[in-house]
Order: sequence, then C-alpha cells, then structure tokens
Amino acid sequence: MTDGHPTSAPDHLTDVVVLGAGPAGLLLANILLDHGIDCVVLERAGRAALATRARAGFLAAHTVRVLERHGLADGLHRRGQPHSTCEFRTEESRFRLDYGGLGQGEQHTVYPQQELVGDLLRRFLAAGGQVRFATEAMAIVDADTERPVVTAREPDGRPGRWRARYVAGCDGRHGAARRSLPAGTARHHRDHGVTWLGLLAEAPPSLDAVGYAVHERGFAGHMARTSEITRYYLQCAPGTPADAWSQERIWDELDRRMHAKAYGPLVRGPIVQRTVVDLASDVLEPLRHGTLFLAGDAAALISPSAAKGANLAVLEAELLARALTDALLHGDTEGLDTYSARCLTHIWRAQEFSHWMIGLLHGPPGTDGATRFHNNLRRARLHSLRTSRSQQDWFAEHYVGV
Ligand code: FAD
Repeated sequence: MTDGHPTSAPDHLTDVVVLGAGPAGLLLANILLDHGIDCVVLERAGRAALATRARAGFLAAHTVRVLERHGLADGLHRRGQPHSTCEFRTEESRFRLDYGGLGQGEQHTVYPQQELVGDLLRRFLAAGGQVRFATEAMAIVDADTERPVVTAREPDGRPGRWRARYVAGCDGRHGAARRSLPAGTARHHRDHGVTWLGLLAEAPPSLDAVGYAVHERGFAGHMARTSEITRYYLQCAPGTPADAWSQERIWDELDRRMHAKAYGPLVRGPIVQRTVVDLASDVLEPLRHGTLFLAGDAAALISPSAAKGANLAVLEAELLARALTDALLHGDTEGLDTYSARCLTHIWRAQEFSHWMIGLLHGPPGTDGATRFHNNLRRARLHSLRTSRSQQDWFAEHYVGV
C-alpha cells in the first residue's frame, strides 16, 4: 500500500496534472492545451455543482486582459457589466467614489464566477481537454522528483494514480496540494476576528454602486451580480450559524445598516444562498515544492473584503502556464524558478490592501475607550477617502488592480 492505495492501481501518464477546476485550474489547463501540452484536470465536485457555486463577481481589468489574451473573454464581454463606483454610507452621511475615473482609470467587470468557470470549462472540453469530475486528489507523492504522482479517489471509489512531469495545485484552501507540502513550508496566517453572513438575494441591485455601510451594529455590503441577483454581506457575531437569521430579520438589518430610510429602500427578494465567511488570510511560502506548484486559493487565502481572490488566481494561473510552457516546450526553467517570488509580491500587496479595507469597514465590538479610539481612526480614514484626491487615486489603483 502507498498512501492508503494499493500500489497495483494503474498509472495514468500526462505532462501536467491540474488539481481543481476553479478559475485558477481551468485557466491554466486551457493555456497549456492551447500550447499542445498534455494535461488532465482532477476535480472533486461533479459538473453540475460547479455551475451553481456562486462566489466572486468582480473581475479586475487585468483579469479581463488575461482572459482576452487567451481568447476566453467572449462570455464576459457578452454578459458582464462594467462597474466603477463605490458608495460609502456612515451614520452621518454617504459619499460616492467613481474609481473608474481615478488612479489608472480602470474599472471592474461584474461577471459571476460560476459563469466564468462555465465558460472556461466549455472551452477546455470543446478543445479536447480532459476533466475527471468527482475525482478527489488525495496526495501528491514524490514531488521532490521529476516524476511526481497524484493519488486520487475515482468516482467509483477506487484508487487512481496519475504520474506527470509537474503538478499544479489549484484545489483551494482545503485541497490535497496544501496537505502535501513538507513540514518546513511557512504558513503566514491571520484570523481577522470578523464574520460575515454572505447572502445571495433573488432581487435586482438596489443601487448602481458597490455599497459599503459602516454602522455601529456592524458592516453591511451590497454588490450587484446580475440584473436579477444581488450579493449582500452582513457582519454577524463569530459562530453565528448560517440559518440563524430569518429572511425578515436579514432584510430589516440590511435596511437599518444601509440607512434605507435616509437613502432609499433596498429591493427585497428571497435569500437563495447563505454562507458564513470568517474573514481570514493566509499565505504559504514558498509556492513550490519540487515539481508541485500552488496557485489561487491553494497558494494564499485572502479575505473577500477587497474582491481579490479570483483575480489573484487568474494572475497566478497565467504566470504558471507560461513557466510550465517554457519548461516543457523549450527546457527553460527560469519561469518556474521565479514563479513563487513573483506571485508572492502580488499576493502581499493584495493582502495589504485587503487588510486596509477590513480596518476601514469594521470596528471592534463594545463601547470602551479603545473601541472609541479605533472608531475615530476609522472615521478619519473615511474622511481622507472622501476629501483627498491623492487618497482616492491610491484607493482606485489598489481596489481595481492586482
Ligand atoms: P476554487 O474556486 O476554490 O477552486 C478549487 C477547486 O478545487 C474547486 O472546484 C474544488 O471543488 C476543487 N478541489 C478541492 N479539493 C480538491 C481535491 N482534493 N481534489 C480535486 N479537486 C479539489 N474573489 C474575487 O476576486 N472577487 C470577489 O468578489 C469575491 N467574492 C467572494 C465571495 C465569497 C462568498 C467567497 C467565498 C469568495 C469570494 N472571492 C472573491 C474569492 C474567490 O471566489 C476565490 O478566491 C476563487 O474561487 C479562487 O479560485 P481557485 O481556482 O483558486 O479556487
């Protein structure tokens, strides 16, 4: 037996085994296939589950350019919506920031992540790519050799073994890639002590901007997804179960925190999905162990406060695709050697901005002196953002950029 699997399981051979069919894995696999590199994607979920997994929605301008470069942007050009305004609401007032006209002059494209995943998947399969759905990678062994092996559980429960030149760990924060790293890998972790109820409402957006409401009862957020679906966030006490609040309580609380009486009612509709999101960040270092490379959430987890996760996943997947292509087609391994350091520069910048946003949007609970001090700092930060052009340019550059 090896890793709980009989050694007699036949080896499947390929150049690159990609773990995970999220944005990172599917973009990488598409680019490799375009270059004629043999690869297979192992995905734990079934195909139907991928089509309904609603998560990110705000694509940075860089992400759109990457997708365009590889001919993968038709869907988002057809159905995505340009977006370039934030509205901040506080107890005292509200202000709008048209970030599309600031900083580098870039904007977001609102396009639900499950639509993007659907586009990438269709294109990959149509080009002859192989995705093994309902196949769970269990471990990567021999990653410190030139012939790493992925052990997996196939859909019928039987063990499978995949032997490759390289393994791309794009299987998220709980995947096999992270588990297979050696003990010496650094994991920089930060739990922000803030919990959000992530909600999807079957209701049109209530405002034509991302809404960030800073309130003494906690943060509330509003983000359009489509003309019929809107994402809302409500800060709640850590440990709150996803189903603890009734629909009525959710809408009343959103109304209160978003100051609906003063600024107009929210369009209500059934809450069709709820997730509890504990805001946490972590970064693994390095993002390589021999012939195993990490990308996307497997490499670093970033709190959704600044909408960076899917955008970093796309950036890293393209860098990894280039590096693997150079290595496999031209024997040039420089891209692989510098991959981890290059990604970490982007990851830490995104973490820094995301951390800044968490400080802007949340205060500590309570009414003691330290809390009041923090809340006054937060007010000052919002005031700068409202009044200082250089602060607004800085915000715009970091908010849309990766
Ligand atoms: P994933 O999308 O997690 O894909 C990993 C895949 O690997 C999954 O399909 C999983 O089933 C599969 N897998 C896992 N384990 C295994 C295994 N052992 N074997 C085989 N397959 C496996 N980001 C933004 O940029 N903008 C936003 O607005 C935004 N909003 C968000 C809102 C919420 C509520 C959440 C939770 C996240 C949000 N994010 C946002 C973050 C974004 O969704 C992630 O960063 C993004 O999905 C990362 O892509 P990925 O390909 O690395 O990982």
